[in-house]
Amino acid sequence: MSVVMKFGGTSVADADAIGRLAAIVRRQIARQEAGGKPPIVVVSALSKVTDGLLEAARLIETGDRDLATSRLNDLVERHVAVATGVTSAARLAALTRDLRAEFAATSDMVRALAALHEVSPRLLDVVAATGELASSRLVAAALAESGVPAAWIDARQVVVTDGEYTAAVPDMAATCTRARRTITPVIGRGEVAVLGGFIGATAEGVTTTLGRGGSDYSAAIVGACLDVGEIQIWTDVDGMLTADPRVVPEPRVVPQLSFAEASELAYFGAKVLHPSTILPAVAKNIPVRILNSRRLDNPGTLITANPQPADGHLTAIACKRDVTVIDITSSRMLMAHGFLRRLFEVFERFKTAVDVVTTSEVSVSVTVDDTRRLDAIVDNLRGFAEVSCEREMAIICTVGEDIHEDPKAFGRALAALDSIPLRMVSQAASRRNITFVLRDADVPEAMMRLHKAFF
Ligand code: ADP
Ligand code: ASP
Ligand code: MG
Repeated sequence: MSVVMKFGGTSVADADAIGRLAAIVRRQIARQEAGGKPPIVVVSALSKVTDGLLEAARLIETGDRDLATSRLNDLVERHVAVATGVTSAARLAALTRDLRAEFAATSDMVRALAALHEVSPRLLDVVAATGELASSRLVAAALAESGVPAAWIDARQVVVTDGEYTAAVPDMAATCTRARRTITPVIGRGEVAVLGGFIGATAEGVTTTLGRGGSDYSAAIVGACLDVGEIQIWTDVDGMLTADPRVVPEPRVVPQLSFAEASELAYFGAKVLHPSTILPAVAKNIPVRILNSRRLDNPGTLITANPQPADGHLTAIACKRDVTVIDITSSRMLMAHGFLRRLFEVFERFKTAVDVVTTSEVSVSVTVDDTRRLDAIVDNLRGFAEVSCEREMAIICTVGEDIHEDPKAFGRALAALDSIPLRMVSQAASRRNITFVLRDADVPEAMMRLHKAFF
């Protein structure tokens, strides 16, 4: 069986990082059993490139065509410099030509559309996709240069999605058909297939992206389609940590996690995994491993259906920052029959996911993270309810498969959070998590206290 190896932005940031990537792939090939199939490599854009591309696209809004072009020029020169570090001679010449062509096409489009001063989600996707198209070409060439037979695959020919630009949803059946058609023959020839994560195309061939951080999801989609033995997520931390290391100093590595725990942590802000990554893995029961591309001998985190139980009752704590709380109060005094249905229909109509929900006799509070359609949602809700919104809130989610077996866990969490105002509290039916909604400004202190109380 093959494995999928996904490398994030920092793991392909420069020539040195791509050199380490090639060594990791060679090691994987050396380890596989005789006659084993070569790995499939999925890569993100070089570190910070997606941000740079989106920034260039946004400059169109102000009509700043020259600045946008100059940003894109800086990006292509960075890629060409990396190419010079990882390839030489004819391979370097071909790679440089491809990279320049990729960026030139994007640049032409940006210049042409700058006159309209309007950036559509559809254009953002075309521009953002340049990052993964370029990084995957670089990595395929670097692998070939280091003696690993490798073939570049255009991920837009593989991942078929709907037309929800910037947050497209894959059509698994169509994608799997394409994956078998394009990737399986490459593996059959004994070559490593290299493709960009994050990007896809509609059935009509228009470029889409799966949302920020979506390369993990791409890796899982391709892995599930090809029934691989393992999905490896190579990144810049030692695995799933007990808390976000940017918020809590020195969190611990969680050695094993269940799919369900990983899903909840990813959904509630553990950025190391895109929230949808686990779905395709669960469907085919494929283990997911999170590994550090700078520390090859660390065991990382293994995510499976039935992990070894952890010693404590809590597995990890995640936080999702900058969410909005919407309080919706029925204009009639009581929660009339049908009120909840009407309310959630509004969110459904505007394709906005609700994360945490709490209710009282006459009011419902929900949190949303995607505020693109918030104004329209509020307008619609006002048709039958009083509505108020509070921004700069955050969700903290404590997750553990066995949390419900520890009757004191809830009390301990509340005691740790003492005096920090809590806006909403909820325990899900799975009883795998306890969730708090509080002011974003209180997150560092709250996370620190919870981490200290549980780990
Ligand atoms: P990549 O570019 O490899 O996809 P990301 O930046 O998307 O990497 O994800 C890795 C980052 O996720 C880490 O550097 C870390 O700051 C952040 N992170 C947040 N929460 C967690 C957590 N619970 N465990 C590990 N990393 C986390
Ligand atoms: N390059 C994309 C992003 O920065 C996808 C990814 O890194 O997973 O969001
Ligand atoms: Mg990521």
